[in-house]
Amino acid sequence: MQSGAIRPIPNMLPRKLFTSDHEAFRETVRKFYEKEVVPNIEKYENQQHVDRDLWNKAGALGLLCTTMPEQYGGSGVDRLYSMILIEEQAYAMDSSTGFSLHSDIVANYINNFGNEEQKMHWLTKMATGEAVTAIAMTEPGTGSDLQAVRTTAVLDGDEYVINGSKIFITNGYLCDMAIVVCKTGNNEKGSANLSLIIVEADRIGFSKGKPLNKIGMKGQDTCELFFDNVRVPKANLLGMEGMGFIMLMKELAWERMLVAIICQAGAEAAFAHTVQYTKDRKAFGKSISTFQNTRFKLAELRTEIDFCRTYLDRCMELQLEENLGVDAAAAAKYKISDMFSKVVDDGLQLHGGYGYMLEYPIARAYIDNRANRIYAGTNEIMKELISRTL
Ligand SMILES: Cc1cc2nc3c(=O)[nH]c(=O)nc-3n(C[C@H](O)[C@H](O)[C@H](O)COP(=O)(O)OP(=O)(O)OC[C@H]3O[C@@H](n4cnc5c(N)ncnc54)[C@H](O)[C@@H]3O)c2cc1C
Repeated sequence: MQSGAIRPIPNMLPRKLFTSDHEAFRETVRKFYEKEVVPNIEKYENQQHVDRDLWNKAGALGLLCTTMPEQYGGSGVDRLYSMILIEEQAYAMDSSTGFSLHSDIVANYINNFGNEEQKMHWLTKMATGEAVTAIAMTEPGTGSDLQAVRTTAVLDGDEYVINGSKIFITNGYLCDMAIVVCKTGNNEKGSANLSLIIVEADRIGFSKGKPLNKIGMKGQDTCELFFDNVRVPKANLLGMEGMGFIMLMKELAWERMLVAIICQAGAEAAFAHTVQYTKDRKAFGKSISTFQNTRFKLAELRTEIDFCRTYLDRCMELQLEENLGVDAAAAAKYKISDMFSKVVDDGLQLHGGYGYMLEYPIARAYIDNRANRIYAGTNEIMKELISRTL
């Protein structure tokens, strides 16, 4: 399998976000992917999840929960470190590791809404890789419409009794804990019904399906979770009962940014592979990069990538100032994931038949990229959000 990183084309517009500390961190992340992940991607894809000890290796290098406060095992650094982690994963053309969901989504819920005991217990374990975590919202009957969640958590004395099931859960198969979106109120209350409950994977009645057979991202663990009269102490409630929907909204802009970052870096990597391939491949006695169609196509793609990069980095500046609007983040998510799909489609075409062969990075990027237009809110939902601000 051809794999591994090709650096983005150097003559793209220069970026201004990072300091030398960030770049030193980038070097550590890059080496981690080169040494620990890229040589094992095929294995991960065959078993449909990464090796469990990869989490501990990432934790030992400080690559998990990096932005969390130091007293809970993080490094207390800014979210540019998360951006670097995601970019290096994408430049390595890996879609197996589910670190970002664990470090940048689940950890934020616990840090933002957990009490001291929950933070000390979970964040410290999450930072070392001792605990792998998931967030379980989607159900077989509902995804975009979160208020239609049917998994229930009913108080019985000092315990919640949870019943229901969740689907498409990233890190679900290896998870030691999942934050589960449950209905705790009666049906009439709509969004005020929802609560977030921490459920440990070893609770009686909590079971996991096999990793789901996806068309792409085959090395990333995605599975169903089942809850059959699972009893958890009331103390496992995150934040306040009935506030689940509001809690889920708090980091929504950031969660969309995470996908936009993956897509931007993924497009840059796919483009770099395509440029290289067109220089190497010969047809009619010359390099295919000399044909006008190839040159124009690459020029168009490069222009789109540069435009998106500029918008994304500006959104990131606003994110760091905590001024990023949900509409701007939704625009980044939908536009950049669409752009990524275009880059891999055109890039595959320029590879000819080899682009259809899975040993070529462009072929894997082609199948892996597709989910980005669906998860973290579908692109149609992103347009809904943007249109509401007009
Ligand atoms: C690889 C992968 C990983 C995932 N990881 C997780 C995870 O870790 N945790 C988790 O909880 N979920 C996860 N998901 C689920 C994902 O978030 C949902 O699939 C997504 O939110 C869409 O929900 P749905 O599949 O039920 O589609 P639906 O909501 O049924 O949507 C079907 C279609 O209808 C459209 N649609 C729906 N409502 C509207 C509307 N109001 N206006 C216009 N169009 C609309 C959608 O855009 C879509 O095109 C993952 C999914 C995938 C594929």
